[in-house]
Formats: sequence, C-alpha cells, structure tokens
Amino acid sequence: MDEVILKGLRFEGRHGVSTAERAVPQPFEVDLILGLDLRAAGRTDSLDKTVDYSLAYREVRHIVEEESFRLLEALAERIAERVLRLNRVIRADVVVKKLRPPIAGDYDYVAVRLQRERPEHRAYIGLGTNLGHREENLRAAGRRLEELPSSRVVKFSSTYPTRPWGKVEQPEFLNQVAAIDTRLSARELLRELMEIEEAMGRRRAEKWGPRVIDLDLLLYGDQQIEEPDLTVPHPGLTKRAFVLTPLLEIAPDLKLPDGRYLREILANLS
Ligand code: ATP
Ligand code: CA
Ligand code: CA
Repeated sequence: MDEVILKGLRFEGRHGVSTAERAVPQPFEVDLILGLDLRAAGRTDSLDKTVDYSLAYREVRHIVEEESFRLLEALAERIAERVLRLNRVIRADVVVKKLRPPIAGDYDYVAVRLQRERPEHRAYIGLGTNLGHREENLRAAGRRLEELPSSRVVKFSSTYPTRPWGKVEQPEFLNQVAAIDTRLSARELLRELMEIEEAMGRRRAEKWGPRVIDLDLLLYGDQQIEEPDLTVPHPGLTKRAFVLTPLLEIAPDLKLPDGRYLREILANLS
C-alpha cells in the first residue's frame, strides 16, 4: 500500500501513570505511517486526493499536548483512531515514544507501536442512465467503480429497462446495482460517485431529468446517515421497484438498517 510518512514529531505532553508525570509536561515523539491509495493524487496533482499532512500534524499535536493519558497505549490508540478519519487514510501505523520515562538506566526511549485499519463496509450503488448509448454508459461507469480507491466491486446486477417516472416525457432508463466492499467512508464514496458522474459528462440541470449517468449510494453497511447532502439508506430506495429489483437480484436476503427485509418492501410496492 502507498504511504505518507510523518516522522519524529516532537511535543511536550502530560501522559504517565504517576501524578508527577501528568503535572509537568514531558517530551514525546510520534512517528506516523498513513496507508492510502495515492494513485489518483499522483495522476491529478490535487490535494483532495490525498491526506493533508499539515492537518495530520495539527491533529496529533492537539492530542499529545491537550489531552492526558496514563498509558502510551491509550495515547497511541487515540492518535490512530483520529488519523484514520483523515481523508482517504485506511491504515495507520503509530509509534509513540516517551523520551524521558521515569525509570533508571541507560536507553534511548520507551515506545508503543500500533497498527490499525479502517473497517470494510459493503455498499450498494444504484446506476441509472437514459441518454446516449445506455449500455455503454453502464459499462463505462462499472469500469470506473472497479477503479475506486481502497474498494473492490463484489458484483454487478443485470441491467433493467425502466420507463421514466417523476418527469415522464424522456427516454427510457437502464438501471443496474453494484455491490462493493470499501474502506472509504460513506462521504468519501459519495464524492467519488459524483466525480464519476461529472467525468462522464453529467450536467445537473433538473431533478429527475435525463442523464448520462446517475450514481446513488443506496446502502452503506448498516449505517443510517442523515446529513444535509447525504442520506443513507437512499430515500428513494424503498419506493422504487427499479432499484429494489436489481438490488435483490444480487442480495436476496438484504435488510434495511432497521431490520426490515427489502424483499418484503418490494412485494408490498406492487
Ligand atoms: P434521487 O435522489 O431522488 O434519486 P437524483 O438522483 O436525480 O434524485 P441528484 O441530482 O443526482 O438526484 O442528487 C441530488 C443530491 O442528492 C446530491 O447532490 C447528493 O448530495 C444528494 N444525496 C443525498 N444522499 C445521497 C445518496 N445516498 N446518494 C446519492 N446522492 C445523495
Ligand atoms: Ca437517483
Ligand atoms: Ca443521484
């Protein structure tokens, strides 16, 4: 895996088992090795495709300087947990060194090293197209899903023709669903999907209007997300047979986060 390395970060912190160690700041050193897929950053030369290491530095400094732990283990765990939330970082190797531990003898330092990884989530993506060469659009979008960083496509459903709804005077849709396993967060994944739409020429003209490609994040593990620009499960999921049908083809026993079977929801739609 590609790595971004921050080595020898020195801070003063109040960590230790004895009260004396927590009263007066002591010197600590942190080494961070962040694992992430750097291919897109290398290709595009743009910061949003990688981790901002100045942000990583500030996050670590804040934890070491402002928080207080008895154990190096707890400090290292906290750092790992925090840096795993930075953009696209899926693995963290954290070394925390206590440079002046309160023990007698001649040595360089005492340290703890941890390696932590983001969990993988099974996500389902709905694909739709009703402009241009629709089969080719789905194939092209499928190839781009296969290139997603820190992810792999598990399965594609068959493609299903669907008469348009909502805004009805437009060409027929082709719909499909893909299952992927990913270590991207739901938000990182949504952003990738929107970039694929844009790269394929999607122009956001009108809601439910004709489009070269529409990529909806239908489900992300069993998470429920309610944010201004991200709702998971996708709000249309339980109302749309044209999404439920391809979804159930590849995952017949799938349930919503609230435990309801999608096959029962589809049966009640018709
Ligand atoms: P619908 O969402 O009803 O299927 P649509 O696909 O035509 O309609 P878009 O214009 O593609 O709608 O998306 C509108 C906004 O929906 C996007 O800007 C995105 O931020 C937001 N959004 C919220 N939750 C999701 C989700 N789970 N998947 C995709 N987009 C989402
Ligand atoms: Ca949609
Ligand atoms: Ca959409």
